[in-house]
Amino acid sequence: MKYISIIGSTGSIGTQTLDIVRNNHDLKVTALAAGKNIDLLEQQVREFSPKIVAVFDERKANELKQRLRDITIKVVSGMDGLLETAVEPKCSIVVTAIVGMIGIRPTIAAMNAGKDIALANKETLVTAGHIIMPLAKKLGVRIYPVDSEHSAIFQCLKSGDNKDLDSLIITASGGPFRKKTMEDLKKVTVEDALKHPNWSMGRKITIDSATLINKGLEVMEAKWLFDVDFDHIHVIVQPKSIIHSMIQYQDGSVIAQLGTPDMKLPIQYALFYPEHRPLAGERLDFAALKEISFEEPPVDVLKGLPYAYKAGRIGGSMPTVLNAANEKAVALFLDRKIRFLDIYDIIENTMNAHKVIENPSLEEVLETEQWVYEQIESR
Ligand code: NDP
Repeated sequence: MKYISIIGSTGSIGTQTLDIVRNNHDLKVTALAAGKNIDLLEQQVREFSPKIVAVFDERKANELKQRLRDITIKVVSGMDGLLETAVEPKCSIVVTAIVGMIGIRPTIAAMNAGKDIALANKETLVTAGHIIMPLAKKLGVRIYPVDSEHSAIFQCLKSGDNKDLDSLIITASGGPFRKKTMEDLKKVTVEDALKHPNWSMGRKITIDSATLINKGLEVMEAKWLFDVDFDHIHVIVQPKSIIHSMIQYQDGSVIAQLGTPDMKLPIQYALFYPEHRPLAGERLDFAALKEISFEEPPVDVLKGLPYAYKAGRIGGSMPTVLNAANEKAVALFLDRKIRFLDIYDIIENTMNAHKVIENPSLEEVLETEQWVYEQIESR
C-alpha cells in the first residue's frame, strides 16, 4: 500500500489525482488540503477517509469541522494546517497540487519529513529551486515531475546517459492567442483567455498559458529539475500537444514522448515511477492525426518566454519577482481590474524596479514576494 497526501486536492490536478486513487487499490490518501472549497473537501473526506484535512481559510475550516462531526478526522487550518498535512506520518509521497508560491513551505516541510514529492506546483521550483534541489539531494528524497512536459523529459532521459545530453526541447501548444496580433490582444477578455485549445486546467495556469508565462515558468522548472542551463533549453510550438517534450543527445539523436493530452498519465507516472500502469483513455491514432506541425514561439507578441529567460539568467531573487508579479497580475486580470496586456507591463516594471539578491534564503524569497505585492499595490 502506498500512502499519499494531496495539497490542493480540490483543484484540477488534485481531483485528477483522486481519480487515480479510485482506480488503484494500493493507493490510500492520508491527508488532504485545500484553500476554501469545503463542499468538495467534505465529499472527498467522506469518500477517501484521510486522517487529517486542512482548509487554509480558518472560518471555512471551522465550518467543515462542524459538518464532519459524525466522523473521526482532524481538521486544521492556515499555514500550520498545510504544514501538518505535508508531514502526516504515514504518507510517503506528497502531491503538491496547490497553486502559487504558497506551496514552497509545505514542500520543504514534506521533504524535511523524508517524503518524496510529486511536484505539480511549479512556482515552488521557479522561485526556490536553488533551495529545494540541494535539499532533496541532501535528504535523499525524490522529486517526480507532474507537469506533462517535465514528465515527458523525465521519461525520455531513461533512454541514455545524462552526460551525453545536449538539450531539452519543451513543446508548447501556443495557447488560445497563438495567432493573435498586438492589436487583437488589446481587446481580449477573461473568457477568451480562459479558453485553452487542448487542456482543461485551473484558472491561473490557463491564463499563464495564454501569456506564455507558463512556458517560461516551465523552462525555469526544467533548469532545476534536470540541471540544464538556459542555453540548452529550447521551446517549440506544437499546436496539438501530442509531443509532450523532447531531448536531444550530443550525437543529434532526438527522443520524444507522445500521447493524447491527459494529465492523469504524468500524475500516475509520478506516483508509481518507474511503472507504466494501465490507464484508460483515448490512444493516439496516427492515421487520423496525419501530421504534427511545428512553429517558432510568437515571442514578440506573447512575451512570457523572453521575460522568463531574462529572469532565469539574472537568477537570484529575479525569478521570484517574475513569478510573484505574474501571480498578482493574473489575479488582477481575473478580477477584471486590468487588461490582458497589462500583465506584461506589470511584470516588466516590477523586474526593472528590483535590486537582485544573490542566492536568497527562504526568508528572502518570501520577503521578495511581499515586496513585489507592495510594489504592485502602490502603483
Ligand atoms: P487549481 O486552481 O485548479 O487548484 C488549485 C488548488 O490549490 C485547489 O485545491 C485550491 O483550493 C488550492 N489552494 C489554493 N490556494 C490555497 C491555499 N491558500 N491553501 C491551500 N490550498 C490552496 O490549480 P491547478 O490544479 O490547475 O494547478 C495546481 C498547480 O499545478 C499549479 O502550480 C499549476 O501550475 C500546476 N500544473 C497544473 C496543470 C493542470 O493541468 N491543471 C498542469 C501542470 C502543472 P480551493 O479549491 O479550495 O481554492
